[in-house]
Amino acid sequence: MIAATQNKGKLKELRLITEKYGQQLISMAEAGLGDLDIEENGETFAENSYIKASTVANLTGKPCIADDSGLCVDVLGGAPGIHSARYSGVHGDDQANRTKLLADLKDVPMEQRTAHFTCCITLCWPDGRKLVAEGICPGHIAFEEQGEGGFGYDKVFVPEGYDESFASLGVDVKNKIGHRARALARLEDLLDGEN
Ligand code: IMP
Repeated sequence: MIAATQNKGKLKELRLITEKYGQQLISMAEAGLGDLDIEENGETFAENSYIKASTVANLTGKPCIADDSGLCVDVLGGAPGIHSARYSGVHGDDQANRTKLLADLKDVPMEQRTAHFTCCITLCWPDGRKLVAEGICPGHIAFEEQGEGGFGYDKVFVPEGYDESFASLGVDVKNKIGHRARALARLEDLLDGEN
């Protein structure tokens, strides 16, 4: 099975699940697709994860798993959403993305700062079968950056039921209540249903 991601952290999380089903999960590089650049031109997280998983499954003839994720802020009409990685205009500039988000929400009071992270994971087989698992983590956007850990918007996102950002809370909390952990748990349920 192939993971359609260049992100080592995601690969590690996905392996924890596929190993339980006796499947060896290999990276794009290991599958000889290290240079493959797939255009994510879908309009939803589900479409983008499907585009990535189905492209690689069709190219290789092997089952393939892909995820797509991002942050949706209610008062911004769901933005940055599928554009989370390039909200500031520069793809993958986490600091610039957070700075823009905090500036956009400068005058927004606490009760209107609600947001959620979404993660959609799609598993595609070359014969066209697929499983789609989504995970959501609700919370709100802080007024300033907090903590040192994490990546992306972790320093400005406070999950529901907590007073600190994901970056301050650390990976153990995130791996329990985070959007990716929830999507992975859902995928595990779906796979159990298949076996
Ligand atoms: P992708 O799924 O790797 O394309 O992630 C899209 C973008 O969403 C990332 O660049 C981050 O800005 C944001 N994002 C997704 N998941 C997380 C997370 O767990 N913490 C913080 N930011 C995230």
